[in-house]
Amino acid sequence: MSKEPWKVAVVGLGKIANDQHLPSIARLPDYTFAASVSRSGGVEGVENFTELDALLAARPDIEVISLCVPPQVRYEMARAALEAGRHVMLEKPPGATLGEVEDLSSLAAERGLVLYATWHSRHAPAVGPAKAWIAERSPSAVRINWKEDVREWHPGQQWIWEPGGLGVFDPGINALSMLTAIWPMPIRLVSAELGFPENRATPIRADLALRDPAGTPMEVAFDWAHEGPPLWDLEVDASGETLKLSGGGKRMEVDGRLVLEEPEAEYDGLYREFAGLLDTGARNVDVTPLRIVADAFLTGRITHTAPFHD
Ligand code: NAP
Repeated sequence: MSKEPWKVAVVGLGKIANDQHLPSIARLPDYTFAASVSRSGGVEGVENFTELDALLAARPDIEVISLCVPPQVRYEMARAALEAGRHVMLEKPPGATLGEVEDLSSLAAERGLVLYATWHSRHAPAVGPAKAWIAERSPSAVRINWKEDVREWHPGQQWIWEPGGLGVFDPGINALSMLTAIWPMPIRLVSAELGFPENRATPIRADLALRDPAGTPMEVAFDWAHEGPPLWDLEVDASGETLKLSGGGKRMEVDGRLVLEEPEAEYDGLYREFAGLLDTGARNVDVTPLRIVADAFLTGRITHTAPFHD
């Protein structure tokens, strides 16, 4: 490390900020946790602001802003931070729309600032080995099953059910971020079936058909009404064998034989990658997973299901 640690402010002290961002920032020597923006409190011993604008005005020493707020409110904050000359890290999905992310990307490039649109699942331990395995074979099919109980994994979160909150795509986009990272070709949406609870603005289940230019069939099933242990599985058939990533990419099997199983350290990976971008001034903004989701909302056949109550 050639310079002083980057001074970072974390905005939105919700589940992911507390579970992952703050511990990773504390662990890594590249960063100092310098301040927070939170409407509901803060962290003892660290200056807290209730508004981002107040932090930007009062703390010109803070070089990096990490946005952990829901996607619907992220754009205005990211734009304000970039306009104030700060580097920005975006939680996934990078925005509520593709247009927002494009605008932020242009602004960051214009100002010579770093913008990092994170996809934490791409830092799961099996992602690199899976990509290498596929590269040496001829893949012929993909199956994704991303199913969890929303009441267990998103208790009381209301923004996930509001427009722009993505519903079941909020976890599902993690699978799409992995698939698009390990796949050797571009992937496009062919069709989608979306199930919306009749009292909610986002889907509780989604079935997608995807293809690459070679026509490889890819079946994707996202379900938030799943009972029992979650399924976060991605399977690839290739050259007569089947690769299975499970646990969101913590575990890799080939034809049922365990190849790799490691504890996840996704956010340390994200913050290390971000430090590399900050050191070189590079940007990393890949909207591919969000485009597949946007295309599902554009073209998907919608059905209405029973009302959902928390
Ligand atoms: P969350 O628990 O609801 O926390 C979001 C925080 O953002 C809130 O606690 C609040 O913090 C702040 N906030 C500011 N404006 C808000 C608004 N209008 N509505 C709600 N909150 C607002 O959400 P989360 O699970 O941490 O998710 C945040 C982002 O991280 C999402 O994009 C999500 O996809 C992503 N993510 C979540 C997980 C996970 O496991 N939960 C995993 C990976 C990525 P203050 O009260 O401090 O202002």
